[in-house]
Amino acid sequence: MAVVIDLSGKVAAVAAASQGIGRAVAEALARAGATVSICARSPERLEQARRHIYEVTGRDVHAFVADVTREEDVQAWVQEVVQRWGTVHIAVANAGGPPAGTFQELTLDQWDETYRLTLRSIVHIARAVLPLMQAQRWGRLIAIESVSVRYPLDRLMLSNSLRLAAVGFLKTLAREVAPANVLVNVVAPGYTRTERLVELAVQAARQRGTTPEAILDGWAQATPLRRLAEPVEIANAVLFLASDLASYVTGQVLVVDGGLAPAV
Ligand code: NAD
Repeated sequence: MAVVIDLSGKVAAVAAASQGIGRAVAEALARAGATVSICARSPERLEQARRHIYEVTGRDVHAFVADVTREEDVQAWVQEVVQRWGTVHIAVANAGGPPAGTFQELTLDQWDETYRLTLRSIVHIARAVLPLMQAQRWGRLIAIESVSVRYPLDRLMLSNSLRLAAVGFLKTLAREVAPANVLVNVVAPGYTRTERLVELAVQAARQRGTTPEAILDGWAQATPLRRLAEPVEIANAVLFLASDLASYVTGQVLVVDGGLAPAV
């Protein structure tokens, strides 16, 4: 019999999903039959994402304007989902990436902002959804981090530092909530063709006096699979962790990097 991932009957909340990896994850979960709600800060981009997901999957997703760095926004989002569908089964903690920069270039304000974006935002999501998941004795919290948790990437000082704090938090949380059958995992992408990656390529090209295309090609060539990931390839890993196929997997970092990290 074919193995099918069927998430019908499951309610999923995907944060920071107006583009890139978040949107691809929302698309994949909707395609698998889940009822999906997405959030992001800009109503216009959120609406574009909602329309895009409808066009490609034929499934309507719910969209809510929220900034994940604000706890009140995250609480309001989850409350609205609960009012509509009664609960949340699957929560995907995602956010924009921190700014690039070396130690010397970064300001203390950027360190504080990145703490709020990269670590505190996951705490907000966990605080909002875990009581629901624990009460129903079924839940999946999946955070999108980066291969930088295995392999520090040059000029990504903030990502290399604060994402490790997020992984430490999530590993500890996984052990605390496992008795209630709530699984907590991390997906760590390598170079993935999204708006963020193109922005990083534009900055790097300016610095090195070359073109963004040359930078993107360099990243592809540095990857053993010799290409960038497509967002759907990251989304497929999230789909696996959200599904019953991953029912005994918790506290793990699933690196989806085409072999980039030279670490075991
Ligand atoms: P992206 O910039 O293309 O998309 C980020 C999404 O997050 C957008 O929808 C944006 O509106 C939303 N967002 C940003 N800040 C938010 C906030 N405060 N509240 C709510 N929504 C917010 O980024 P992406 O490439 O899809 O990356 C997603 C995550 O994965 C980032 O943390 C990024 O650093 C990480 N990552 C990306 C790559 C890559 O190569 N693209 C590699 C490793 C890790």
